[in-house]
Amino acid sequence: MSQKLYYENLYAREFDAEVLNQYEHDGKFHVILDKTLFFPSGGGQPFDTGFIDGVEVKEVLEKNGEIIHVLAGGLNNKKVHGVLNWERRFEFMQQHLGEHIFAGMLFNLHGLHTARMRIEGGNVSIDIDTPVKEEFIFEAEAAANEAVWRDIPVEILYPDIEEVKKFARKLPPENAELPIRIVKIEGVDYVPCCGVHVSSTGQVGLIKITSFENHKGGTRIYLKCGAAAYRWLASFYSEVRKAETELVCGYESINDKILNLKSQIKDLKNENEKTLEKFLRPLAEDLAENKIIKYVMKNSSQDDVKHLFRLITEINREAVALLACENSEGVFIMFGTNRDNKNVDVRPAFKKAISILDGKGGGSSFSAQGWGKNSEKLSAALDEAEEEVKKFYEI
Ligand SMILES: [Zn+2]
Repeated sequence: MSQKLYYENLYAREFDAEVLNQYEHDGKFHVILDKTLFFPSGGGQPFDTGFIDGVEVKEVLEKNGEIIHVLAGGLNNKKVHGVLNWERRFEFMQQHLGEHIFAGMLFNLHGLHTARMRIEGGNVSIDIDTPVKEEFIFEAEAAANEAVWRDIPVEILYPDIEEVKKFARKLPPENAELPIRIVKIEGVDYVPCCGVHVSSTGQVGLIKITSFENHKGGTRIYLKCGAAAYRWLASFYSEVRKAETELVCGYESINDKILNLKSQIKDLKNENEKTLEKFLRPLAEDLAENKIIKYVMKNSSQDDVKHLFRLITEINREAVALLACENSEGVFIMFGTNRDNKNVDVRPAFKKAISILDGKGGGSSFSAQGWGKNSEKLSAALDEAEEEVKKFYEI
């Protein structure tokens, strides 16, 4: 079995080893060494990458106690030299210990158990099987960061199983090999784990919650630790700064400014609606004198058409309106009648017209709308639609 150098010296980046076995498997090169610094996936932590004798290590697996290095090519020598992608490994060590500290605090403060956790890229997420209150999450975050500042050393212990059962935040799986490896942070956490972590809490640097959501009846919490937390905050602030510049305010006022703008938009919309009403009502009254109304609004929007439609069908509840507008987005049509008018179904007319216009849309018997492309065929489409609607009046 390979010697696990990654447990013996957490900070070693390079090592010498002997090749015990190498073979091709599914077109990939599998290499087994007498000892290795390459951590295989485990305890929610992804595998290390790097190079062995200059050949890229793409993946590292552990199978039946054997560490398998999946390489991009074969190795020529029996004695080889391995180099870790240290940046990746160190970030995982930061994130992993950060996860222990935060999960430990959720447990210590509120008795919440972490059911699952994963580390992916710069992200750590943990799942709690019950809903977690927002203030509990931020309390644990604050306590976790205080534990970081205290720079508590991480102890690796192999106690007997009775002690594990007594003190551990969660129990190891039933079939776990003994002795159980315990990662202990005095006063913070005591948990079985096969991962590799930085050797003291201070090296985690920072623990930041970045989001949380309901997940299968419980809560999923996302956090970032160390270098990943710093990168996230840096990009976060650069975005906030853009908003500060745009809104001409400090970040504390961004929300108030947005609420203010939203209320201004609402007022403007109301005003616009009133103006439109003033212009459209005389037109609607005119048009509503007919039973079937074909009308194309020039230089108008979809909202204008809808407004005119509402006015006409309120003024004349028997009338059928075949309305359209053309603009840079294409041609919009809206057909219908008052919803109380059960004598007409505008869908056959709409289907015919929208197919002539090569468009998409739909609706109910009293109202259908959609956008089309063939604006040059608009008048033909309206004529066809009128013929369809007339059928309901000839019966
Ligand atoms: Zn762990």
